[in-house]
Amino acid sequence: MQSPAELNLARKWRPKTFDTIVGQDIPVRMLKNGLYLQKFFPVYLFAGQRGCGKTSTARVFAAALNCQKTEEFRQNPRLTIPCLECESCIAMLNGNHPDFIEIDAASHTGVDNVRQIIESSSYMPLLGAKKIYLIDEAHMLSKAAFNAFLKLLEEPPKSVLFILATTETHKIPETVLSRCFQVIFTPIANTPLKTHLRAMCDQESITIDDQALDLLIHETDGSARDAINLLERVRFSNTHITEETLLHILGKISNADLCALLEYIIDAQPHNIIATLQSPSFELINSTIIWDMLIELCRTLICIKYKATTTLPSWAQTSSILAALDAKCSLEKLYTISTTLWHHEELFHQTSKKNIFLEMLLVQLASGITPLTTKSPATAPFLQKTNAAPLPQATKIQQAQTPSIEQTSKPLAEAKQPSTLLPAWTSFLEALNQAGDALLESIFKQATLVEPFAPQTPLVIKLSAKSKFFTDKLNECKQIWQPLINKAFPENQSISFAAPTEQEPSPRPRPPQVAESAAAAPQPPRQPPVQSQQPIKPWQGKKNYQAAPKQPSPNALNLENIDVQDKEKWPIANLLISHFPGKIKKVTQ
Ligand SMILES: [Zn+2]
Repeated sequence: MQSPAELNLARKWRPKTFDTIVGQDIPVRMLKNGLYLQKFFPVYLFAGQRGCGKTSTARVFAAALNCQKTEEFRQNPRLTIPCLECESCIAMLNGNHPDFIEIDAASHTGVDNVRQIIESSSYMPLLGAKKIYLIDEAHMLSKAAFNAFLKLLEEPPKSVLFILATTETHKIPETVLSRCFQVIFTPIANTPLKTHLRAMCDQESITIDDQALDLLIHETDGSARDAINLLERVRFSNTHITEETLLHILGKISNADLCALLEYIIDAQPHNIIATLQSPSFELINSTIIWDMLIELCRTLICIKYKATTTLPSWAQTSSILAALDAKCSLEKLYTISTTLWHHEELFHQTSKKNIFLEMLLVQLASGITPLTTKSPATAPFLQKTNAAPLPQATKIQQAQTPSIEQTSKPLAEAKQPSTLLPAWTSFLEALNQAGDALLESIFKQATLVEPFAPQTPLVIKLSAKSKFFTDKLNECKQIWQPLINKAFPENQSISFAAPTEQEPSPRPRPPQVAESAAAAPQPPRQPPVQSQQPIKPWQGKKNYQAAPKQPSPNALNLENIDVQDKEKWPIANLLISHFPGKIKKVTQ
């Protein structure tokens, strides 16, 4: 036997009996029952994610099948099996059992390897009752290999037993699957894994804090192997492993620091965002990790708002910070932050200056600005297909000091859309987008639904401007939008349109005004307006006339101002300006 000191943790702590397999009670019970009853299937399929104990369980099962104490176990099922003492068990422990053949299908994919198995399977076992083949990563076998294997599976020799292990059951042909007895391994639950790791640390004299152990388990997603390997990595880093040690090794920030960052966005403190991101604890952290952690934090808080989660173990020690954050931020604000991150993710991954991109985006969010994207936003997981407007926002383009289309939409937190109607309104806007009428779509995208809302009552849609043009357009295109509205809001029998009420008092605290925000948020230098005498083409949809990007972007467009004062020459452009105050710009790129 090798000296324990020579072995790494994963090998040393690999389970050798059924009793030491962690967190797989159902598979263990099924296999032990088979041993007790001496009823076996010729082919087993062990399916489950990586590191959850499939291969270890297969080795234990193989050892138990050939253990010379099997008869005693049948008399007394309380006995430990395999016994680890008999000749067969010792051969298994030493890795030289003549009747146990382990094949890594990832490196033996071909039909020749299967032919070798078929040939050798006809020989009788030498030491035990069964000749056992463990085929790991079985989904990697080639089609030809599976076909050759199938013949053997149809009529396997009585003394042969196959165990196929796979992380991807769907890649195993149906013809093979139908001949297998499937044993499903679930990810290992936190509690048994923590108990196991704690016992391991105690025996190995590894001093580790409870928070650090929780974080370690959270990081490894129910894989015991990954958790033990990570523990192996950190055990010599410090005599006492704290959460901070582990965070440092993982290149992550603490929950408390992460919450503080989100809090600065919610409290509209852009200066603190900059200070935090440039502080020593953040400076060395990869921006991608901060980005991912922020999205995960928003998700956790959204789940809490919907009462869809209990506090995660990784938050056990910092649950009060999470609760305080939950109390001060609204669901709308969380949607704004997470949606903004999703919509900018593609650009974030493209840029080489990720830390600056992250900083600017968070500063804009903290300044109450919903940053604009120049590209069609990436699909967020909770929104199916989105185009220009990710959520039905109460988007009103306001007149700022310089009349220009470079305006910001109001933050979503201020939107008055009843949140219960979001899905119906979003699906309506999507359907409208398919209809292909850009002006009609624009009118609806800028409109809001009026509360209070109840089924069976008329649906009131408040337009963003009092305009004959809007009402004419709506009447003219009724056959387009009416069926789509009816489909999205089947419970509302009628629809009425309302004009906007100017300067209505808002029940919620108002975010900083646009002018203030613009001053607080660093912005790219504006291009001097260029007057062009070039005539512009008639309106052809929003792709030709875009709001200028609010932030530096690798895909920034070249925009030129165009003089459209002649109302007879530029009727549509003037109509647009009357509803969307600003300048018409031409994309010259
Ligand atoms: Zn034995």
